[in-house]
Amino acid sequence: MSSHVAVECLDCGYQAPYFPTSYSCPRCGSQWREARYDFDSIGKTLPSLLPGRPLDLWRYRELLPVQGPNPIISLGEGGTPLIHAANLGMMLGCPHIYIKDERQGPTASFKDRQASVSIAALKEAGITEIVLASTGNVAIAYSAYAARAGIKLWAFLTSLVPAEKMREVAIYGTQVVKVTASYDQTKQVAAEFARQRNLYLERGSRSIPSVEAMKTIAFEISEQLTATLGPLPNHNAVPAARWRAPDWYFQSVSGGLGPHGVSKGFDELHRMGWIERVPAMANIQAEGCAPMVHAWKQNLAEAEPIRSPRTLIATLATGDPGRTYTLIRQRMLNGSNGVFESATDEEAYRAMHILAKMEGISCEPAAAVSFAGLIKMVRAGQIKSSDVIVVNCTGHTMPIEKMILGEGWARDVVVPTEALKDKPEEGLLSALSRVTAERYPRVAIVDDTPDARRLIRRILQSQGDYTLYEASNGKEAIELAQRELPDLIILDLMMPEIDGFSVLDALKDNPQTAPIPVIVVTAKELTPEEKSRLQGRIHTLMQKGEFMNDELADEVRALLK
Ligand SMILES: *Cc1c(COP(=O)(O)O)cnc(C)c1O
Ligand SMILES: [Zn+2]
Repeated sequence: MSSHVAVECLDCGYQAPYFPTSYSCPRCGSQWREARYDFDSIGKTLPSLLPGRPLDLWRYRELLPVQGPNPIISLGEGGTPLIHAANLGMMLGCPHIYIKDERQGPTASFKDRQASVSIAALKEAGITEIVLASTGNVAIAYSAYAARAGIKLWAFLTSLVPAEKMREVAIYGTQVVKVTASYDQTKQVAAEFARQRNLYLERGSRSIPSVEAMKTIAFEISEQLTATLGPLPNHNAVPAARWRAPDWYFQSVSGGLGPHGVSKGFDELHRMGWIERVPAMANIQAEGCAPMVHAWKQNLAEAEPIRSPRTLIATLATGDPGRTYTLIRQRMLNGSNGVFESATDEEAYRAMHILAKMEGISCEPAAAVSFAGLIKMVRAGQIKSSDVIVVNCTGHTMPIEKMILGEGWARDVVVPTEALKDKPEEGLLSALSRVTAERYPRVAIVDDTPDARRLIRRILQSQGDYTLYEASNGKEAIELAQRELPDLIILDLMMPEIDGFSVLDALKDNPQTAPIPVIVVTAKELTPEEKSRLQGRIHTLMQKGEFMNDELADEVRALLK
């Protein structure tokens, strides 16, 4: 695990080493914890390392809860451009507006940061299956990275998510579960599913890698502003890090993970002495679902949940922000002045047009909410014309067409509202019972190369429900087969010491394992003699590098019938 990170409990202050799979404080049980680093030393050493590193989010790896970048998973996350919005600036009388263009991430939203860092951390911890609830973009981003990492993903999406986004999730091979209920209820259903199956649940602001990933937005903005406007004069930081922070940072807000993580990022820069002050945060919500704005304006430390969101912008339909609001507010009160503000759906659509027509940037309605907030606040005189403003353009719209997926790509869960009101546990349980069968077919993958195991695992997990086992050599394979008695074995032939032929001999010599069907996958052209050794003892022979994923999945399905 990452030895450079500790997690500190926000309730009792206890510090523990970081483990991705530990959800709560070992002392008091609180799920609210934050990552801590050795800021004194990193603040001094990191600036001189940065110039030699690629422009992706891993350039700040010392401040992330991951051992290191994993090139196999990476899609070039982070490093999105900071674009000067000269026309919008002219229109609003604010010449220093910059757009952090998060549409340019691998899956076109800022959730790519969260997904890439989380999947890297979970992969390091050996996790192979993840559950999450999403208003769309989190599921899309996690799906892409899970595909590369060989991790199976269950995405619980509220039925309010546009069909285009659901299909985008499905094409990555994620199991989509469509829940006919609000987003907050969908989160409950996903949590219950994960609990029943003992699977890792993505918990937004309570998931350390998710919060930490968002910090990189603050880091990049400050580094990029400094490159654009020059280093700050008369600033007594480490000479290599006289960075600039904007006066304002705008972002549209749903659950608040984004601003929570970004403000932690600015705080850390301040703490390391790289910036002189943190920016004012402008957190903009959709007016029809703005629990944080209501609480802020009444000066309340806790937000009252909105039970029935009234906005067409599903991405922003988190009605219950829970403690995340309290944490963001606390940071704002400790730092600089910021605000929570709202904009209507209509104002967001108008802002979409302005941004596309004035700046050549077409964004999704959720992203446009932050621009609508900016326009509103400039008009209200809350922004000075000399202010340096950065707006996070959080995402782009998705277009996967219907006919590409065919039928049956989603499973439906209908949560009757009455059931949840009276007996919430029972309502969820009966709704969930239709998601999956109790027992999956069990398949063992035997191969000495990790890449091959990951590929086969991914092919199977993206096209069906299986319980998968892996063995990396012949000895492990024989033990695994005897212990688990899987329904099917996928066997590599060329392995050091005990090769596939010998594994096959051992399987057939034992009456318990002899009937298990075997698919042989081999990288090598077999000699006639070798072929005859396999004759009648295996079900299928497949050539590595030549089979397409459908062929293997079809073969597995056929043998398990
Ligand atoms: C997730 C998302 C938001 C809201 O972010 P939170 O961190 O949930 O507050 C805004 N815009 C887009 C495009 C998003 O995907
Ligand atoms: Zn604690």
